[in-house]
Amino acid sequence: MDFEGFFQSALDGLHQEGRYRVFADIERQRGNFPKATRNAADGSRQDVTVWCSNDYLGMGQHPKVIEAMKDAIDQCGAGAGGTRNISGTNHHHVLLERELADLHGKEAALLFTSGYVSNWAALGTLCSKIPGIIVFSDAGNHASMIEGIRYSKCERVIFKHNSVADLEAKLAAADPRAPKLVAFESVYSMDGDIAPIKEICDLAEKYGAMTYLDEVHAVGMYGPRGGGIAEREGLMHRLTVIEGTLGKAFGVMGGYIAASTALCDFIRSFASGFIFTTALPPALAAGAVASIRHLKESQIERFAHQERVRRLRNLLDKNGIPHMDNKSHIVPVLVGDASKCKWISDLLLDNCGVYVQPINYPTVPKKTERLRITPTPMHSNADIDHLVGALHQLWSRCALARAVA
Ligand code: PMP
Repeated sequence: MDFEGFFQSALDGLHQEGRYRVFADIERQRGNFPKATRNAADGSRQDVTVWCSNDYLGMGQHPKVIEAMKDAIDQCGAGAGGTRNISGTNHHHVLLERELADLHGKEAALLFTSGYVSNWAALGTLCSKIPGIIVFSDAGNHASMIEGIRYSKCERVIFKHNSVADLEAKLAAADPRAPKLVAFESVYSMDGDIAPIKEICDLAEKYGAMTYLDEVHAVGMYGPRGGGIAEREGLMHRLTVIEGTLGKAFGVMGGYIAASTALCDFIRSFASGFIFTTALPPALAAGAVASIRHLKESQIERFAHQERVRRLRNLLDKNGIPHMDNKSHIVPVLVGDASKCKWISDLLLDNCGVYVQPINYPTVPKKTERLRITPTPMHSNADIDHLVGALHQLWSRCALARAVA
């Protein structure tokens, strides 16, 4: 087989459909978030404002987090030195797991290399080890949950996105004796809509199902201590497993689950994605502890974040720029065409110093291609005015439809 030719023709297909991914090469600047320097292909350097970061609260640049990481490097060195089982469990990991269990009001927590791995490993293990389990999975679930469920080869039932009625119909139709698990997210990453967590918990209790909630796009940002939407709605105790990331609002890297002692111990003991991989560097764990502790106490970042989101949405509305209406911090600006979406993103970056990555199929359905804008507390009024001014001009240039106010 002509392997090189095969690779190239697959890539050519992506180019033709306008969904070949180009990564902007940026250097984040300490203490200057959301500003960054972009290294262009021609070797030139350009100042840009980042509008698509998942460092939602700028905690990746917070002095407390940076100091904690530096101290831990001075104290422990660079890497963990092994898997968690074989010499890699550092005291910073132990402290972090305690901090996470406390954050979610659970008995225990378990760390993974990333949020992706935590979903894949935890769901994959639960669904493959519990005999005869049926998983009810929201149609909008993230790839990491889908992959974990698929890997387990268990029976899988997809329910309509955020539809309590469809979930109920599907739970009612399933074998009443089968063990069940409902897997869903709180804030969905691309549309920014929020799950009816209470209603799903009600159904899960009625049908004797476990619940698995991905709070990756909510932890740190919602709830009085940053415990997520479930904390805000007083529902943490009703969820069997809460899964989260340290890589978004907490500004570092890593993923976790929080649950009962027995469940975490079970995953710790049986999940290959936990057992057979090097532990996170202790400095990452120390940075995460500092970030979580700060956000448990401080409301400033959360309030400022929500205020910035409101300001951006208002200005988009005034300019007729269509964006999805949701109750979260994610502002999806709809373009509806892969090539135009990429073109606008390129022009924003090259001509306006605005960095916002285009989001195309298969991440979102075709004809809903978008710019996924994520304001942070650090975006100034001038940044917001500049972004919306640039979008306003590009909308006219591309002859894109305006939203009716
Ligand atoms: N769950 C959801 C809903 C996500 O959007 C993502 C990543 N964007 C993940 C899990 C994976 O998290 P991480 O980036 O920490 O791997």
